[in-house]
Amino acid sequence: MSRAKQPARTGIGSINRQEEWQMRVAVIGAGISGLALAYYLQKLGIPYDLFEAGSRVGGNIRSVRTDDYLLELGPNAISPSAEISELLRELKLEDEVLPATVGSHQQFVLRDGAYRQLPYSPLCLLSNTCFSWKTRYRILQERYIPPENNRYETVSAFFERRFGAGVLDYAVNPLVSGLYAGNPDKLLVQKVFPQLKEMELEHGSVLKGLFQHQQLSEQLSPFSFVEGMQTLPEAIADKLISLHTEHRVAMITRHEGKYIVSCSSPTDTDTAEYDLLVLSLPAPNAAELLHYTFPGMAAALQNIHYPPLAVVHSVYNSRDIGLPPDGFGAMHPVAEDTFSVRSIWNSSLFSGRCRPHEVLFTTFVGGAQAEHLALTERDTLLQQVHQELKELHGITAGNPIFQYAHLWHHSIPQFDLHIEDAHEMAQTLEEEGLFIAANWYSGVSVPDCIRGAKELSCKINSTLRHAHNS
Ligand SMILES: Cc1cc2nc3c(=O)[nH]c(=O)nc-3n(C[C@H](O)[C@H](O)[C@H](O)COP(=O)(O)OP(=O)(O)OC[C@H]3O[C@@H](n4cnc5c(N)ncnc54)[C@H](O)[C@@H]3O)c2cc1C
Repeated sequence: MSRAKQPARTGIGSINRQEEWQMRVAVIGAGISGLALAYYLQKLGIPYDLFEAGSRVGGNIRSVRTDDYLLELGPNAISPSAEISELLRELKLEDEVLPATVGSHQQFVLRDGAYRQLPYSPLCLLSNTCFSWKTRYRILQERYIPPENNRYETVSAFFERRFGAGVLDYAVNPLVSGLYAGNPDKLLVQKVFPQLKEMELEHGSVLKGLFQHQQLSEQLSPFSFVEGMQTLPEAIADKLISLHTEHRVAMITRHEGKYIVSCSSPTDTDTAEYDLLVLSLPAPNAAELLHYTFPGMAAALQNIHYPPLAVVHSVYNSRDIGLPPDGFGAMHPVAEDTFSVRSIWNSSLFSGRCRPHEVLFTTFVGGAQAEHLALTERDTLLQQVHQELKELHGITAGNPIFQYAHLWHHSIPQFDLHIEDAHEMAQTLEEEGLFIAANWYSGVSVPDCIRGAKELSCKINSTLRHAHNS
């Protein structure tokens, strides 16, 4: 990867020769949050240095091309948002965008060993067989349940209160383990689904809010890129003038109100001084760096839980598949006692992921509700995934044509009670010139990370202007 402009690859001292009066910002971590922040700071004309420990950018966003297959080890698709549309236009990436197929709104859930389609709009609920009549009736009564404002309510408690216990096992549980590798009994609804909480408080009912929202917004499909998700971070990196890959920040100290950032690169060790510091790092990495300067914050960050998650790609010849995948994919509720939590039907979702006569499944194993399974020994993991796909899709082949596994030891931060302290402290530390642009703060989806980065760039801009004028 040699995307960033050449001067940015040199030592810290030789770059960013801004005027004396200009204040400098250090951004640590070039995942999508750090990249997007650097991009927006650059647009605002704010001098920054972006440090990335690895030789590639993108963090969790990782596309691998191997043996005619395009595999996503992290996110497979992004939901459109206003910020992302603007960013794609600015990066001239529109021609690279690959929208999901028309069937992408079809999500399935495993119930009694068979796949059933989940309702994709409130209206579809009435004709949907995923829920019993009793549950469907109870869901419709949601309009009459009075709102409650409890900031520590869990996702399970919220859905049970508003829609009844019937939705928990076969909708809420698989959704939360599929999207957040999480446990709905622990995650906080206000943090994970803030829009639903807002709908409850604003409209008095989530259903009413969803109806209104649906009328206002067109149904937009998720998308990827012809060359995979990695296209986005690489295109942002291409625009940046002060990106330093292979610069691992090893220590942060403070001196007379400034942040002293020490980096190690393959050839050197550098130290430089910054007025503002932004951490765009996973919580455990941020904790390591704050150990000396802000030990309280470091302790709070260490409490944020990241469950392990294994991602397994399996390819079959389509003629060997009894039940060909058609849709986004399927979620497997804990109640069904499956090995995997979810599978994305990649070749049904996007073209060009495998050869035309083949089918590619991306299966997720582990997460907060089955952590030990993610750590299954590799050959057993591959075999178990194959066995399950065989049973669920009527596959006749003895083995897949191709399989590939990746283990995220620390996958997705859990927005449970333990994250509260870190969020509160992060807000307080802004007064000290320390800011956060990372998924454990902004929200885990790629659009959330980009929105968070854009908002932070505006905040930093006004902080710097204020400091300059005073
Ligand atoms: C398996 C999986 C599937 C997902 N699926 C989806 C999906 O389909 N859609 C979606 O919207 N989101 C999805 N997500 C979530 C989304 O991908 C992440 O939340 C997001 O990419 C995180 O970006 P980030 O920049 O905050 O952090 P990261 O991507 O973790 O980036 C942090 C960066 O910091 C660097 N770093 C660490 N320590 C140092 C140091 N000391 N010095 C310098 N650099 C350092 C790392 O190398 C890394 O590049 C998924 C996540 C995972 C794990």
